[in-house]
Amino acid sequence: MEKTLFLHDLEELDIQNKDVITLYNEISALAMKHAGNMDEFGGYKCAYYLSMEFLIGRSFYNNLMELGVLEETKKILALKGIDINVFEEIEDAALGNGGLGRLAACFLDSAAGLGLPLHGFGIRYKYGLFKQAVENGCQVELPDDWQRFGDPWSVRRDSEKRVIEYADMRVYAVPYDMPVFGEKTNRLRLYQAEGDAGAEKISEYLYPADDTDEGKILRLRQEYFFSAAAVADLVECYVKRHGKNFEKFPEYNVIQLNDTHPVIAVAEFIRLLTTEYRKKFTDALNIAKRTFAYTNHTILPEALECWKEEYVRKILPDIAEIMIKISVFASREYQSLGCTKEQALEMAIFKGGKFYMANLAVYVAKNVNGVAGLHTEILKNRLFATAHKTYPQKFMNKTNGVTHRRWLELCNKELAELIDKTIGNGWRKDISLLSNLNGFTENTVNGFIEVKKIKKRQLLKYIAEKEGMEIPENFLVFAQVKRLHEYKRQLMTAFAILELYYGIKSGKLSNLHPCVFIFGAKSAPSYKRAKTIIRFINAIADKINSDALTNGRLKVVFVRNYNVSYAEKIVAGADVSLQVSTAGLEASGTGNMKFMMNGAVTCGTMDGANIEIVERAGLENNYIFGATVEELANIKKAGYNPAVCVSDPAHKQAVETLTDGTFSDGGSGEFKELYECLLHGENPDGYFVLHDLGSYVQTLISICNDYVNNKKFAEKQLINVANSAYFSSDRTIKEYAEHIWKI
Ligand SMILES: *Cc1c(COP(=O)(O)O)cnc(C)c1O
Repeated sequence: MEKTLFLHDLEELDIQNKDVITLYNEISALAMKHAGNMDEFGGYKCAYYLSMEFLIGRSFYNNLMELGVLEETKKILALKGIDINVFEEIEDAALGNGGLGRLAACFLDSAAGLGLPLHGFGIRYKYGLFKQAVENGCQVELPDDWQRFGDPWSVRRDSEKRVIEYADMRVYAVPYDMPVFGEKTNRLRLYQAEGDAGAEKISEYLYPADDTDEGKILRLRQEYFFSAAAVADLVECYVKRHGKNFEKFPEYNVIQLNDTHPVIAVAEFIRLLTTEYRKKFTDALNIAKRTFAYTNHTILPEALECWKEEYVRKILPDIAEIMIKISVFASREYQSLGCTKEQALEMAIFKGGKFYMANLAVYVAKNVNGVAGLHTEILKNRLFATAHKTYPQKFMNKTNGVTHRRWLELCNKELAELIDKTIGNGWRKDISLLSNLNGFTENTVNGFIEVKKIKKRQLLKYIAEKEGMEIPENFLVFAQVKRLHEYKRQLMTAFAILELYYGIKSGKLSNLHPCVFIFGAKSAPSYKRAKTIIRFINAIADKINSDALTNGRLKVVFVRNYNVSYAEKIVAGADVSLQVSTAGLEASGTGNMKFMMNGAVTCGTMDGANIEIVERAGLENNYIFGATVEELANIKKAGYNPAVCVSDPAHKQAVETLTDGTFSDGGSGEFKELYECLLHGENPDGYFVLHDLGSYVQTLISICNDYVNNKKFAEKQLINVANSAYFSSDRTIKEYAEHIWKI
């Protein structure tokens, strides 16, 4: 960065009569101009991250921070009469859904921060994840036209556009490169589809509705679109520098597949080598086996993609043939390595007229990793047990992380400065030094209490402005913010809140410390049950917030359009992080890490990275409850009957609000349906909400009681901060670099 030139130009910048969007574009353009070039692909060994999602959030503040000019920019703008916070009007680039997309963004940030060559490939969606409004308590989806603010951080590369061929159409993939600033400047390359109207549809929406054949095919087109463009870029780049002998390709390229969406890249790579470069199939396959690595993010079947043969044949006939051929090789190989026919069939890539993309990834990838200790064990012992038995050396764990630059330095400057004051600022470069915070003095605890107060005040002020709801500062803040999914059990929190509410009303909980529950969650547009849960939470919020008898003690707020920028405020201001998924179903979670880093204690189940959080910060400094994976297995074996749980009168009262007229669902019948699915049917309460509800309520009550001793509680929170270094994605990225990428 030509820092002095940038600051000089900024001082000279004429701001007369310019609106915020214009200023945003002009200041960003100045930073781009002086930032220096992005690194080239392929000069030496680089890792490439293929991901359907990059949930970047707002770039403006983060980029200025990474370039080392944020504070000076703030000062110069202030002299011109501009408060830098006005740029909060520029909305997030939400080219992702949730955890998986945010992880991709954190990884890019950490790699650049550490000076490691990691570049991203994805899609430049015209519309990102929908904007969420709430009407009558229900989610309404609005298009997210993020480009209306301009896109000053991207560089369009017309000269590098290429054609992507489908059997029925040809489409241009035009790269837009976004710099990722740090010790070095890496590149996030997002392709935009151009051509006729049909072509442009390919990069129009993130996850277009796929409940029709047409929708499914569009999704497949998207996956092939960016995977094929990325593979072609890398192969072309290699050929230019090293010629057409691909033996050394893996010495320069390692391609990380983020979940199953880009797995089709493997088949495209083999297609390219065997057709354009006339390599033998077995040679191409062997090079692929040394090049690709695969990260699994979930064991939920909905994310383990299967493609119907007829769809693939229709638009990508060559790719279908290649995947069938790989499947034959895989089956032979599994059997030659000691698997039975049945076992080989279990791991088959092509069977019953469908392609199993996870099986393709597991067979070809040189490494397969889960994203937290428990998750990786489940992959090894259950989901991919046969593959693990056959190729044990492939499997490894890489516990997720989050970048401490955005999730601590940027979103909680006050805490970062307190840490500087206590242990020096070396931790900002070498996050492992954060552990020096352990053994803190009373002074630091007092400092932390002050910081938490400030961040909570900022959060509550923001909520008051955005949601129109006042929350007093003395309230204990619980937060459950994440995508809405049954396995994440927002419904269990809703029932628990009702129990607290009725307890306060009846006088049983007359001494409960005042508290607020903050929810933030988007539901997938077609996920009906999740939408019902949003409606139920909003109905509960309306009732509780308008009850004069209790609302000095208990409040509930559902914040609209939860996104990265909202998350930055919530993780910094919250006291307690709610991470209450059904044990075994949350692969890792990363929200839990952001909260920990900002000193919220975890109230959660033994699931995902929660286990590793309490391993490091201590069980006694967090609040763990609920059935473990093993316990749930036993309960299932014995036959789970949720009706038994509802014999408890408090649970009964909470659950029956769904049907007894306490709340209205506007006549849709959805609350009754939710009730039925908890108590009746074939697999009632499949997520064990009612099983864990009792211990959840007790845990929430003890947190409120502990909070009364403010100092002791702050100590627990601070111990969480002090032991959060492990959850920086700097640590995660170093592990990928060392064990998988060898860069
Ligand atoms: C971190 C983050 C997530 C992931 O949260 P989990 O609790 O791990 O599911 C989702 N959405 C946004 C906006 C985030 O910042």
